[in-house]
Amino acid sequence: MNPIFGALKTTVFTEMSALALQHRAVNLGQGFPDSEGPQDVREAAARAIFDGPNQYPPMQGLPALRQTIAVHYARFHGLELDWRTETLVTAGATEAISAAILALVAPGDEVVMLQPLYDSYLPMVRLAGGAPRFITLKPPHWDLSDEALSVIGPQTRLVILNSPLNPGAVVYSREQLARLAALCIQHDVTVISDEVWEHVVFGGLVHTPLIAMPGMRERTVKIGSAGKIFSLTGWKVGWTCAAPHLTAAIAKAHQFLTFTVAPGTQAAVAYGLGKDDAYFEDMRAGYARSRDRLAAGLKAEGFAVLPSQGTYFLNIDLPASGIALDDRTFCLRAVQEAGVAAIPVSAFYEQAPVTAIARLCFAKKDETLDAGIERLARARRLFS
Ligand code: GLN
Repeated sequence: MNPIFGALKTTVFTEMSALALQHRAVNLGQGFPDSEGPQDVREAAARAIFDGPNQYPPMQGLPALRQTIAVHYARFHGLELDWRTETLVTAGATEAISAAILALVAPGDEVVMLQPLYDSYLPMVRLAGGAPRFITLKPPHWDLSDEALSVIGPQTRLVILNSPLNPGAVVYSREQLARLAALCIQHDVTVISDEVWEHVVFGGLVHTPLIAMPGMRERTVKIGSAGKIFSLTGWKVGWTCAAPHLTAAIAKAHQFLTFTVAPGTQAAVAYGLGKDDAYFEDMRAGYARSRDRLAAGLKAEGFAVLPSQGTYFLNIDLPASGIALDDRTFCLRAVQEAGVAAIPVSAFYEQAPVTAIARLCFAKKDETLDAGIERLARARRLFS
């Protein structure tokens, strides 16, 4: 067995969803909506599957989707991408991340990751033979401070960024990203920028794609996800956008990871990315309402709620809520004893600090959120 995977636990998202099922708990853990996603996009997939073709699509993705990705980012972010040489469709962002890491990390390369970090990054960096280092971001603001970023230096070859940040729920400003960009330019570093939450931002905040910042166009791999944009997480359609030399390398890894992605869902995502602005605004407004409902309900029950500027997630500070448990213990006991699943934020840290923060997913129907609030209130009474 490969020791890198042999030593790994099952991801915390699967672990908590399984416990939620077992204990019939309200599942505010793993980040997925409890709705089916837009009907017209699903109909487009059904039609595409009936009408075909259903044989292997091109390895880099359906031209119709790749063209739409380029048009979509020109429309929303003013990017100019050549769809033929600068886009690649993957089986979700998770494959995009794996393919990019395997393609861009050579044995011995120093790879700097921001923690909290999504749990797929580190095993893939290790598999590629990279030497991991961490930038530790601290709640409640998870700032990209000069001190935190000072880990990036002459030895660094690659940085992995997640912006907006899961689980921190921060939408990084242009100023914060400029600090990171300056260091990457100074040390000639490539960046994998996991931007799957780019459309899920609230309060009029604007997502800044790192690839659009001066000096970053040739050194950034931008990763996107239809699952997050269309609340269709099960479809596993993602993509990379990057300069031709980077895209060509990533395609070499992709061809042996999945080769390609189901054509019907690709065709439907191509349709979806072309939807009018109202779709994107309504999606954001709907999630903002859910965030506010969960936050208000939890505050009324005595919870200390951290700000959420974007993503599907809201964090609660356990000690400030009067709960003297670490977050993993809280989440394990909450699912078993109070019937509500959450994700311990410490699971996103490879190195200290262990946090006492629990992440809740609010991409849920009102009745799910209300039931979650009631169960969390029960947990707070039990554990404080
Ligand atoms: N991105 C999702 C989350 O943060 C999890 C994805 C997964 O379970 N693989 O909850």
